[in-house]
Amino acid sequence: MDAEIIAVGSELLLGQIANTNGQFLSKQLAELGINVYYHTVVGDNSSRLENAISIAQTRADLIIFTGGLGPTKDDLTKETIAKILGKKLVTDAEALEGIEEYFIKTKRIMTENNKKQALVIEGSDILSNDHGMAPGMGFIVDNITYMLFPGPPKELNPMFLKYGSEFLLKQIGEAERIESRVLRFFGIGESQLETEIEDLIEAQTNPTIAPLAGDGEVTLRLTAKHRSPEIAKKLLDETEGLIADRVGEYIYGYDSTSLVDELMNRLKGMNLTISGAESLTGGLFLEELTRLSGASAVIKGGVVCYTNEIKEHVLGVNKSTLETKGAVSEETAEELATKVRKILQSDIGISFTGVAGPNESEGKPVGTVIIGISCLNYPTKVYPLLLTGTRQGIRTRTVKYGCYYLLKM
Ligand code: ATP
Ligand code: MG
Repeated sequence: MDAEIIAVGSELLLGQIANTNGQFLSKQLAELGINVYYHTVVGDNSSRLENAISIAQTRADLIIFTGGLGPTKDDLTKETIAKILGKKLVTDAEALEGIEEYFIKTKRIMTENNKKQALVIEGSDILSNDHGMAPGMGFIVDNITYMLFPGPPKELNPMFLKYGSEFLLKQIGEAERIESRVLRFFGIGESQLETEIEDLIEAQTNPTIAPLAGDGEVTLRLTAKHRSPEIAKKLLDETEGLIADRVGEYIYGYDSTSLVDELMNRLKGMNLTISGAESLTGGLFLEELTRLSGASAVIKGGVVCYTNEIKEHVLGVNKSTLETKGAVSEETAEELATKVRKILQSDIGISFTGVAGPNESEGKPVGTVIIGISCLNYPTKVYPLLLTGTRQGIRTRTVKYGCYYLLKM
């Protein structure tokens, strides 16, 4: 089923309200496995609404309307649809009773135009409105399914969930389900990733593979469709396998788990403690980690060793290393990581040194970054990097690289 959602209301076009009904319905339809290909917004104007319906009829077999079912003159959705389809509007006895009861209950006088809300397109299935007066409708004409919902989200949302989805499922039999999974990458650029799996992206239709980039991280969204959620999951597993065969070393996690989340989980799971010697990052690494609950089981502490004096006098880096190799050197990174691990008595020590810019330092260009990682009983490792970007960008990406290398150990 290919759907189009038509939201009716001049206030949408005037920018007074956002089309959250479109968003809500799209989400719901996706869960039912129905493709939504178009969102249309049209004002409270009969001839423009007629145009919108005519266009939708050429490209959708499910057209869902929201708004304009109320009692006032500008509410003309059902009248216009009835006209274009050559259908009559008839009074729905149950809806009329509901409206009358509502007025008795609220001790208000019912005016003639309120009766208009009980008018429905002949032959419709009525979708009851438990939170307002205007009922919704569903019907089929010439193989196109039409559904009408009131505008107020507090009426539409429960109506769709309680009656609308049932009506739709009846039309399409058991719906196809959509299962999706996000693969999270680090250490590989978006374009390199796309190049590595270009043929897969092009060849795959179920699941589809869609790349997204942001924040120095790259993600792929895999979306599978199947009536059986188990088979949809199997399709996702297979495609993930194909991707992992090529670029698996860069995958660090799934869905909305960040590198820091993943690192925290790993350290907690392995019962390991960590401490940091942060020059370039000035405490950013530990700040990221301490944001997460449960940090106390993992983090011992850290030293912001911005100057050479602190590197030497607090952490015990050799004066000669600093003088001959410089603060931004593999040797200094190595000593920092080892010393901070030992002094703070933790299982892992990590160090960050580098040139964030805007000016070069020690003759090393902006973006030079060296990360040291020291683990008990293992030789200390250093990871030199050359990053680009702003001072802040370099610092935040350095933290991510730190997490990534820790996860790769
Ligand atoms: P009523 O009986 O309240 O008049 P209606 O079905 O005639 O309902 P509209 O008059 O079009 O609906 O809209 C009523 C209110 O519903 C709007 O003022 C707005 O607050 C909300 N609304 C309408 N359309 C949307 C939409 N697409 N997204 C979010 N809210 C909407
Ligand atoms: Mg209205």
